[in-house]
Amino acid sequence: MSEILHAVKGMNDVLPETAEAFLSTAVWDKVIDTARRVIEGYGYRQVLIPIVEETALFARGIGEGTDIVSKEMYTFSDRGERSLTLRPEGTAGCVRAFIEHGFAKTDPVQKWWYIGPMFRAERPQKGRYRQFYQIGAELYGASDPAADAEVIVMMWRICQALGLKDVTPRVNTLGDKESRDRYRDVLRGYMRANVDTLCDACKARIETNPLRFLDCKNPACKEVARKAPDIMESLSAQSRAHFDKVTTYLRDCGLAYVRDAALVRGLDYYSETTFELTTSALGAQDAVGGGGRYDGLIEELGGTPTPAIGFAMGVERLALLVAATQQVASGPHLFIAPMAGAESFALQLADAVRTGGPYRVEVDVTGRKLKGQMRRADKVGARFALVLGEDEIARRHGNLKDLRVSSTSDVALTGDAICAALAKLIA
Ligand code: AMP
Repeated sequence: MSEILHAVKGMNDVLPETAEAFLSTAVWDKVIDTARRVIEGYGYRQVLIPIVEETALFARGIGEGTDIVSKEMYTFSDRGERSLTLRPEGTAGCVRAFIEHGFAKTDPVQKWWYIGPMFRAERPQKGRYRQFYQIGAELYGASDPAADAEVIVMMWRICQALGLKDVTPRVNTLGDKESRDRYRDVLRGYMRANVDTLCDACKARIETNPLRFLDCKNPACKEVARKAPDIMESLSAQSRAHFDKVTTYLRDCGLAYVRDAALVRGLDYYSETTFELTTSALGAQDAVGGGGRYDGLIEELGGTPTPAIGFAMGVERLALLVAATQQVASGPHLFIAPMAGAESFALQLADAVRTGGPYRVEVDVTGRKLKGQMRRADKVGARFALVLGEDEIARRHGNLKDLRVSSTSDVALTGDAICAALAKLIA
């Protein structure tokens, strides 16, 4: 016997039937379809960009000193000895495409969204995988605080449309470069004064990246960070005014956000507004999505300076939240069970129903006995069943059987009549 091969650790299959509900196609369809509907409602259009990019794009875009670039990238040499990387996130690739196709000159206001797999060699655990999917959106060419507020509200609306209750929007500002430089110095002073309490990583961060100390998970660092000086006191008048407007607009839109002074995020390109949606339902991996403004990135990667803001949400984490609280139906609305001799009629009737309405219709084409067909109707989670025998075909009438409550209703055997009956019964 040959050895069975397994999926790579931290990489999942999403299947029609699985033991883990959050990896079922029905749940993913719900998450993706809902997000698409909400995001496109704000005027965003989908982009499809490559999964593989030159390593330099991520190194320069995300930052050499970040965890993602220094420890987590899947980097390899291709056959031409070029260094390529499986994308760890979507923003850098979108920015590369924005620059490469010259949008800054033709029409810098672009609203893009994407879905696709990202790759990070992190330690797998619940809600954290090595291949995971992100749904993200990027808005280019808008520097007004209204853009920040709209993007945050949009991300929140996706959760609402998915029926998620336990999600908290958190917002913060990292200010402009001048504010951040000033704050880094203040923070360095504070960290040096508490250096004995800090973990080794944070000791190193005093010089390299003091902001990341604020979201260190080490309990001792957390305690020190809680009393750290707030960036608010280091903000320039402009950054302060920007953030005040963003939060005012959020309140006006009815968003109950929390200001989180420790929300610095793990990627180097952010400036001004940062935000995250968190939940208490996923344990350690509590971020459902996050994003921020990155006004400097396009210029950093060689493009015409263009303001930008965006976010990404984790599909697995959204799916975990949906699967924990909801039954997501994916079976056919109607299962047609033809007796011997009724097959051709069944195929035609099923087609007429599919043409007449938005229904999933399955005909049992196995040729087995009625009992076996009804077992399959149950197994695939059909909502209604219709048995077709000689008698039904002669009368042009049949019984639509509701498999959830075992009631039946008489229906004429035409596509229109069945669609009308389904519309009434499913509503
Ligand atoms: P980030 O690009 O790190 O800001 O992440 C944005 C969102 O992607 C997070 O809020 C998560 O929902 C999701 N995410 C990030 N890393 C992972 C991972 N390793 N596994 C699953 N989801 C992830």
